[in-house]
Amino acid sequence: MSLIDSLSESLEQKKSRNLYRHRRIVSSPQGAEIVVDGQPVLSFCSNDYLGLANHPDVIAALQEGATIYGVGSGASHLVTGHSSAHHELENALAKWMGRERALLFSSGYMANIGVISALCQRNDLVLQDRLNHASLLDGARLAGAQLKRYAHNDIEALEQRIAGCSGSVLIVTDGVFSMDGGLASLPEIAALAKTHDAILMVDDAHGFGVIGQQGRGVVDHFKLNNNNVPILVGTLGKSFGTFGAFVAGSEALIETLIQQARSYIYTTALPPAVAYATLVSLELLESDDWRRDHVQMLITHFRQRALDAGLPISDSQTAIQPLIVGESKRAVVLSEALLKRGILVSAIRPPTVPKGTARLRITLCATHTKSQVDHLLNLLIELWKSTAIRT
Ligand SMILES: *Cc1c(COP(=O)(O)O)cnc(C)c1O
Repeated sequence: MSLIDSLSESLEQKKSRNLYRHRRIVSSPQGAEIVVDGQPVLSFCSNDYLGLANHPDVIAALQEGATIYGVGSGASHLVTGHSSAHHELENALAKWMGRERALLFSSGYMANIGVISALCQRNDLVLQDRLNHASLLDGARLAGAQLKRYAHNDIEALEQRIAGCSGSVLIVTDGVFSMDGGLASLPEIAALAKTHDAILMVDDAHGFGVIGQQGRGVVDHFKLNNNNVPILVGTLGKSFGTFGAFVAGSEALIETLIQQARSYIYTTALPPAVAYATLVSLELLESDDWRRDHVQMLITHFRQRALDAGLPISDSQTAIQPLIVGESKRAVVLSEALLKRGILVSAIRPPTVPKGTARLRITLCATHTKSQVDHLLNLLIELWKSTAIRT
């Protein structure tokens, strides 16, 4: 059978195992209510936690940025693509996080593969939490480094894997786990890294904006700093509401990435207007504590009612509140039943999450009202009782 013939067969297999994925077409801006495949729905699956993706000031800045810089950056950062808007945003991000430097990447995926493959070689050991984002695993694979995964947040397992290793060790973890909502046990991991002279890298895509003082993320939440977590990655497409990503750390780290990170060097820089708009979203993210407070209120309310009703939520305290339903089929049926009732929550299935832990990944954002969350809860509680969902 040719390679192309075998494609249809494996696609059919995915369908029969409820693992086939479809794209929906969105024709509105992000927000609590969006238009999907022509239908208005109440959405609980965006990562636009603070509601900045459709903020009038950010939109105006993007437009102004396009007037100043045009649309495309025209080249990579090392050729002629590095604009004053990019430069200013890097400085603002570094200052905000209290680090020497920050470096923009075109996406979080590229930042992660760039950092790990620039810093690690064949004999180095990269230790990763089992639930880490795919881009972190791919980074270690691309580096050709020894990749070992440890059970989720399991400090003993992590220590066992470090013991006896002679080369350099990089420990990598999500700050807030993207499909789970839980926090990494950072103080313990940082202490262990120190004992064993390992370097700690944290990808805080879902922590920035939501937790920590003024949204400074998980490192700030645990009162750690550049000494404990020398490599910090954040993305701009989530709480910041724009696009792109950054790595923050020491002068030497950032200069090394500029010289060596292939996903930094061999790609076109972000449109400068996106960086220009992100300067405004950073200001809003920092100053608008009420957005974080509102999300926090929704989280507390959601958890209280969900627990009272016996829904299988995880113990997440963040904006990501998954309902762990188990089998893929059940997650799909529940997601479809909600959609029929005008609510969009995506079913997350293996391989994105471990087998047998398919879930509805519910996210709560500053754009949601309490009554919208109550509406979701009412439907979830009603559907969860119905036998069609349970069996
Ligand atoms: C979303 C995400 C990324 C990828 O960021 P993009 O900018 O979307 O490429 C990386 N790491 C984590 C933990 C994420 O959630």
